Amino acid sequence: MKLATFSQRSRTRIGILDEQAGEIIDLSIAAPKLPTDMTAFVEAGDRALKAAEKASRTRNKEARLKLSRVRIRAPFPEPRRNILCVGKNYYDHALEFDKSGFDATAGASAIPDLPIIFTKAPSTVIGPGDPVPGYLDPTKSVDYEVELAVVIGTGGRGISKRNAFKHVYGYTIVNDVTARHLQANHKQWFLGKSIDGFCPMGPWLVTADEVGNVKKIRVESKVNGEVRQSALVKDLIFDIPTLIATLSKGMTLQPGDIIATGTPAGVGIGFKPPKFLKKGDVVTLTIDRLGVLENTVV
Ligand code: MG
Repeated sequence: MKLATFSQRSRTRIGILDEQAGEIIDLSIAAPKLPTDMTAFVEAGDRALKAAEKASRTRNKEARLKLSRVRIRAPFPEPRRNILCVGKNYYDHALEFDKSGFDATAGASAIPDLPIIFTKAPSTVIGPGDPVPGYLDPTKSVDYEVELAVVIGTGGRGISKRNAFKHVYGYTIVNDVTARHLQANHKQWFLGKSIDGFCPMGPWLVTADEVGNVKKIRVESKVNGEVRQSALVKDLIFDIPTLIATLSKGMTLQPGDIIATGTPAGVGIGFKPPKFLKKGDVVTLTIDRLGVLENTVV
């Protein structure tokens, strides 16, 4: 199932995408007892999912809204917690970052021994089609990073690698937009990663059963139509079970937590000279089975 958060007449709620019909099934009408907020819906687990599935077959015409009549938001427009992110998690990107001169953590080895974890503030999240406020980067070094994002369903602490996928609710696309000079100058990555609007997300939250074998899917980015990044999820240095086991070792993961799994080679600082984003650039991210996330820099 493809779940969406959407707005219509300034009211935000959740729904299910009916791709063939080009419609959103408004769960606030088709299943009024369900939560209208994605985090609460994910937290309600299988029971809510089954009820939504049943509601997706509704004949109630009022519950069916043409996609063109609604604004698709990020699946989690206001995540409860920071977005959990993984740095340098594809070999080729780790090497390009090491060589770029922008990596304040460089030195020991380009390929990390353990996952590098940082976070982005919830206020970074914007939706499909929303403008990326590049003008907020005082250092004029805005860069794109296509990433597969894992959404946690059942929370927990001490989750084993073997059980990790049982805790995965689904997936979405994230653009881990970064101000490179801030990332480098402040050593810690948080400031360079947490400018308002620097986390486009969406368009859908696709449930894990619909995605199937996540290792086989391709992540790709284009800037103004030119392919910049293209890799398979199987190329991750630290795979999804390793990331979940690492994160949950001492910290309880919660329903609706979002883990951005890292970006492949081909970001702007991989070029000499760097190809930073500028006003008017269109960044298009495509991940198999998850859809297309496109945003323009302003
Ligand atoms: Mg990243």
